[in-house]
Amino acid sequence: MEQKNTWETYNAKQLKEVDVFAREYMDFLDNGKTERECIDQIVNTVEAAGYQELEALIKDGKKLKTGDKVYSVWMNKSIVFFQIGQEKMENGMNILGAHIDSPRLDVKQNPLYEDGGFAYLDTHYYGGVKKYQWVTIPLSIHGVVVKKDGSTVEINVGENEDDPVFFVSDLLIHLAYEQLEKKANKVIEGEALDIIVGNKPLVVDKKKTEDEEKSAQKDAVKKGILDILEKNYGIAEEDFVSAELEVVPAGKAKEAGFDRSMILSYGQDDRVCAFSSMKAMLELPAKTKRTACCILVDKEEIGSVGATGMQSKFFENAVAEVMNLLGEYSDLNLRRCLAHSCMLSSDVSSAYDPTYASSFDKKNVAYLGGGMVFNKFTGRGGKSGSNDANAEYLGHIRAIFEKEKVNFQTAELGKVDLGGGGTIAYILALYGMNVIDSGVAVLNMHAPWEATSKADVYEAKRGYVAFLENANM
Ligand code: MN
Ligand code: MN
Repeated sequence: MEQKNTWETYNAKQLKEVDVFAREYMDFLDNGKTERECIDQIVNTVEAAGYQELEALIKDGKKLKTGDKVYSVWMNKSIVFFQIGQEKMENGMNILGAHIDSPRLDVKQNPLYEDGGFAYLDTHYYGGVKKYQWVTIPLSIHGVVVKKDGSTVEINVGENEDDPVFFVSDLLIHLAYEQLEKKANKVIEGEALDIIVGNKPLVVDKKKTEDEEKSAQKDAVKKGILDILEKNYGIAEEDFVSAELEVVPAGKAKEAGFDRSMILSYGQDDRVCAFSSMKAMLELPAKTKRTACCILVDKEEIGSVGATGMQSKFFENAVAEVMNLLGEYSDLNLRRCLAHSCMLSSDVSSAYDPTYASSFDKKNVAYLGGGMVFNKFTGRGGKSGSNDANAEYLGHIRAIFEKEKVNFQTAELGKVDLGGGGTIAYILALYGMNVIDSGVAVLNMHAPWEATSKADVYEAKRGYVAFLENANM
C-alpha cells in the first residue's frame, strides 16, 4: 500500500497554518508540564471560547440547548467538555479522548534528607520510564503543597531563565566499569533517582556550648533548604505529606531539524492528542448534528485508575448531568447515549525508528510525517488487553477521512512478540460504543524529550474536526 508523506499534501496556506499551530502547541507544552497545569490552560481556553461550567449551571438551575457549550473539571486533573448537538443525546455523541498525565518523577511524602553534604528529595517515578534517561539532565519541580489550614501553595521552579534547576547524579565514567556491566534496567535503580536540591549549609550564630554547636551542624544543608522553603513558600517539612510535586525535564519545547519539521519536547505523550483534540472542538461550527464531546484525563500512564482516571465514573456522571439539563435524562437514555456514541481514543503511537529497525514491522508501523495514526488494536503480544475496533467502524472512519482529505496511516506499536501498551480505549468500549485507537506518531516515546512531526500534529487536529462533524454510526 502506497503511503503519502503529509508534508507533500499541503498547499502554501496550509504550510503556514502548520507552523502557527505548532507554535500554539509548543506554548501549551511549555505551560502544561503537569495535568493540573494543563487543566488550568484548557479551562482558560474553553471559557474564552464560550464554554460554561457544568456545576455552576446546575447550581443556578439553568437549562441547556443545541449549540450550548459546557465543561466539567474533576479534582483539577481531568476535564470533559461538550458542545450540544441538534440530535437527541440518546442517539449518541462523537467523543474525543486523550490523557494529560505524562511519565515523570514524583516527590515522596517524606522526601527531604541530607547525605554527603547534599540535600535530596526522594522520588518515586510515575509511569514507564527508562530510568537511565533521567540522570544528569536539568529538572524542574511543579506542583502543589496543601497546608493544614487547607490553603494551597503552587510550586513551579526551574523553567524561567534565572530559575535554579535540579538534577539526578550519575557515576563518573572513570569508575563505572561495574555499573556498565549491569543490565540497562539495573544501571540506574528506582531509589537512585533522588534529586539533588542543595549543597550549602545553613549558617547559624556562634553557639554557647559545644553540644549546641554540634546540633546546629547536623543536617545543616537540609536545614538550609527548609529555611528557603519557609521563606519563599511558607511551607514546613511536614507539609510534604500533603503535597503533589512532579519532577520533569526543565526547558521549553524546541523545533527540531534544519528544516524545523519536528518538535522536541517533554510530555508529548499524550498532550499532543489532548491539545489537538481541544483545538478541534473549538473549530466546530455553531451547530453540529451530534453532540461533540472531549475527555482529557489523568492517570493513563498508571492504568487509568483513581477518581481522575478514565475508569472513574466522573465521565458517566457528567454525561448524566448534561442530559438532565437538556431534559433528556433517564437511566435508559444515558445508556443509549453511551452505547450509540463513536469515539476516537487518541494517544501517541510509536514512530518507526530506523536505528532500531528490527523492533518494528515496517509495513505496519507509523512513520513520522505519515499523518494521523489509527491502531485497530493495541495490547501486548496476542492483542492481550486491547480494544480491537470493528471493521465496520474502521470502514466508516476511513470513508470520512477520505472525503475530508485527511492523511492517515494504520499501525501497530511494534513487532508482535516484542511488547505493547494500553490506552483508555477499552474502558469506553465497555459501554458498547464504537472506539478506535488513534493519534500521533512519536519518536522516543516516554523519554525526557520526545519528538513529533509538526505535520502530524496539524493533521491530527484536521482529523478530529472531520470526525466530530461527520461520524454517525
Ligand atoms: Mn499515552
Ligand atoms: Mn504513555
